[in-house]
Amino acid sequence: MHQLTLAEIARGLADKKFSSEELTKVLLARIAQLDPQLNSFISLTEDLALQQAKAADARRATGESGALLGAPIAHKDLFCTQGIRTSCGSKMLDNFKAPYDATVVAKLAEAGAVTLGKTNMDEFAMGSANESSYYGAVKNPWNLEHVPGGSSGGSAAAVAARLLPAATATDTGGSIRQPAAFTNLTGLKPTYGRVSRWGMIAYASSLDQGGPLARTAEDCAILLQGMAGFDPKDSTSIDEPVPDYSASLNGSLQGLRIGVPKEYFSAGLDPRIAELIHNSVKELEKLGAVVKEISLPNMQHAIPAYYVIAPAEASSNLSRFDGVRFGYRCEDPKDLTDLYKRSRGEGFGPEVQRRIMVGAYALSAGYYDAYYLKAQKIRRLVKNDFMAAFNEVDIILGPTTPNPAWKLGAKNSDPVAAYLEDVYTITANLAGLPGLSMPAGFVDGLPVGVQLLAPYFQEGRLLNVAHQYQLNTDWHTRTPTGF
Ligand code: GLN
Repeated sequence: MHQLTLAEIARGLADKKFSSEELTKVLLARIAQLDPQLNSFISLTEDLALQQAKAADARRATGESGALLGAPIAHKDLFCTQGIRTSCGSKMLDNFKAPYDATVVAKLAEAGAVTLGKTNMDEFAMGSANESSYYGAVKNPWNLEHVPGGSSGGSAAAVAARLLPAATATDTGGSIRQPAAFTNLTGLKPTYGRVSRWGMIAYASSLDQGGPLARTAEDCAILLQGMAGFDPKDSTSIDEPVPDYSASLNGSLQGLRIGVPKEYFSAGLDPRIAELIHNSVKELEKLGAVVKEISLPNMQHAIPAYYVIAPAEASSNLSRFDGVRFGYRCEDPKDLTDLYKRSRGEGFGPEVQRRIMVGAYALSAGYYDAYYLKAQKIRRLVKNDFMAAFNEVDIILGPTTPNPAWKLGAKNSDPVAAYLEDVYTITANLAGLPGLSMPAGFVDGLPVGVQLLAPYFQEGRLLNVAHQYQLNTDWHTRTPTGF
């Protein structure tokens, strides 16, 4: 039963082949048995899950239907869940039980989804390897000596290992797409403003966006449908109707114009990944797409700009964790300054402290123009590159990451080396565009992802292309040995 996708689960439940309660019990047992190898969960919510599963079965018994009614999922541990620890992967929030549900959590619960638990993540979503979590590193089910990617590494490892069919995640600079690529999943970062950020603990507010991680594009469509929509509680949420994503999956790709940026294939890209990307292009050509070389000339400036803007926003967002109102408080503070300093010094890990320092520096009076303002100008140039490209093509295709998942610990002593791995994903966040990563093959037994980017609000187009690709390839069906 653990092999079923969300779409298959919905059919099985509708046909009364099994109940949500039965399925939930199978998956909870599987998590108990296998997760010790992976460390993909921070908290399990067995009681809530069984209660939600029974309620979903009861709703189905009255004739109600819905793709998510009774479907087991998990939430990245930065979505607030009422009465349940919401740690953000940090010692700072180890004792924090959210007093309310995030909009995403509430919407999915209303649709009947069953929450199995809260997944591990890089501390405050800062990272690309899921090694900065206070709760320990997550392992990649494809090779337990390798990282699963980050910051949504727990959601990715759990779904890849078939502990559950899908999970929520967030993407500030690639944290849905990169772990999807590293674990052979399909992950979608929606357009900025498509999914509510209310109750999603902020890292960099102008870049953060929640989205689905699943095995197939079809399942991403189902989960996104439950997450997306206008939310008056989030001032950056956009009041645009949500299309029927599942209905868009079957469009023909005849005449689809795919742009492949020449900058993507410069030094730094593993040639074996380049070859798999070219193969995926050929596959889409067979389906009727036409391919064109394009240029994104400002791409080279994106990493430095992102690593100014994201820490700057983080330094502001994380100032609320001061040991006073909630979260970690140091023992026996001497005075108020000591309370602030030690609560933050002891509550935040080294990567978070590094980013707060970089961000506070970039925002300081003497350096604001030189760093923050300059980075914002680059951000505009990156966006303009995309706008020009989308005048000529319908989607942009390239690798999700320059290399496959690295070994645990390999980049611990060199944070900049890890930052450079974000080269293909962060531009979509700087521009606010939707992006999807889907399985495209393997290198040394480790999965490789191909990334698709589309104009604003064209999530349906991304899902359509990915679904058609998945109907004609079988990379996404491969299962890691032992799971
Ligand atoms: N790796 C990037 C960072 O560390 C992106 C993380 C994310 O998307 N949350 O900032």
